[in-house]
Amino acid sequence: MSPGTVIVGTGQSGFEVAAALRAGGYSEAITLIGDEPHLPYQRPPLSKDFVLDKSGLEQLELRPPVFYHNHHIAVIVGRRVVAIDRSDRRVCLSDGTQKHYEFLVLAVGARNRKLRVPGADLEGVAYLRSLDEAVALKTLLHKAERVVVVGGGFVGLEVASAAKTMGKSVTVIEMQHRLLSRVVAPEVSVFFETLHSAKGVNVVCGGSVCEILEESGKVDGVLLAQGAVLPADVVVVGIGVEPNTELASAAELAIGNGIAVDKCLRTSDDAIFAIGDCAEFPSRFAGGRVRLESVQNGVEQAACVASAIAGKARPYTSVPWLWTDQFDVRLQMAGLSIGFEQCLIQGDLSIGRFSAFYFKAGRLIAVDSMNRPVDHVHARRLLEADAVISLEQVRNPSFELRLCGR
Ligand SMILES: Cc1cc2nc3c(=O)[nH]c(=O)nc-3n(C[C@H](O)[C@H](O)[C@H](O)COP(=O)(O)OP(=O)(O)OC[C@H]3O[C@@H](n4cnc5c(N)ncnc54)[C@H](O)[C@@H]3O)c2cc1C
Repeated sequence: MSPGTVIVGTGQSGFEVAAALRAGGYSEAITLIGDEPHLPYQRPPLSKDFVLDKSGLEQLELRPPVFYHNHHIAVIVGRRVVAIDRSDRRVCLSDGTQKHYEFLVLAVGARNRKLRVPGADLEGVAYLRSLDEAVALKTLLHKAERVVVVGGGFVGLEVASAAKTMGKSVTVIEMQHRLLSRVVAPEVSVFFETLHSAKGVNVVCGGSVCEILEESGKVDGVLLAQGAVLPADVVVVGIGVEPNTELASAAELAIGNGIAVDKCLRTSDDAIFAIGDCAEFPSRFAGGRVRLESVQNGVEQAACVASAIAGKARPYTSVPWLWTDQFDVRLQMAGLSIGFEQCLIQGDLSIGRFSAFYFKAGRLIAVDSMNRPVDHVHARRLLEADAVISLEQVRNPSFELRLCGR
């Protein structure tokens, strides 16, 4: 009998492989192993509804416990896979047990990049990746009055929005000269800075933290390299993530900016796949190899790997997309704007209803839609079809994305 498929990581990507395998009729054993003590849950609400107490644990769970029982998916939580023996096709767990596999899927995700300055270990310094961290952050926020968020990326800005909604005094410190600088055009950054400022968040761009200050063993403030001191009861650090590549690297699998996989998401070992936040894959949208951090990427890569395990390997070609919710706005992004040369805005920036069209070498490569969900849906359709949309078309005041390619 085949030992079946072992999936390492009980995040969104790992869960989706197991679910997609069973949905596709896979009848061999499936074992899902994760080091967190919880059944698979969603991360996006952690910085949104969950931190605001608008949703609880049950809403986070990707499926109730009975799902795993009914679908014959063995779930091992609270244990880490510490080694892969590729020649014998087995993994070793932190409790000394071992599991054989026919196929192994690494869905080991990413971990928070740590802030390395004096005081970074003080009580009151928080990170947000896991459910346990979200629970701890919630407790800290309830007790705090002054919150400093280090990092003006998606997670940092979502936490700032939640903390402000809770009535806290909030400052966001971003090292670059604008918010979200890696992922959106300057016009979109300005929109977010204006939004946060209008809601009362103090946004400091071009600021770098050199020390977390202490009072009686707890956080009391943040010292910037520029000399300013920002008082704080809580410091939330959101300065990006690093892919978990160590397990794969120790097994001598190829590593790039993540676990390196081919177009069908296979690692340098044919029996081992890698997906989600930990995997670096070739993408026509990136014009090269890329590692993405989004629910869409994890879910659709999982489906692709489930097909490959079922003997129907196909290249992973899905359009990347993701969203962020801050205050009363939802930004939805389709495609990848990396390396864009022109950005055209359609709509009204001042009321937060617009789309940003990104072009490279005269071709549309990405669309960010702010409170314009219909644009987002059509952008995904058009990018998927590799439709040719020119700058001139978008410049035309009567241009409508929904009418393109019909
Ligand atoms: C606060 C927050 C908000 C977000 N909001 C959005 C959003 O609005 N929209 C969006 O598209 N995306 C969002 N994301 C990103 C999205 O949640 C991630 O891209 C997605 O969850 C990645 O899933 P994954 O399974 O690939 O990795 P992970 O979720 O990181 O899961 C990997 C799991 O593997 C475990 N693991 C690692 N190594 C081992 C090992 N050796 N043995 C056993 N287990 C191991 C890890 O502990 C972890 O549980 C958000 C992320 C965060 C943290």
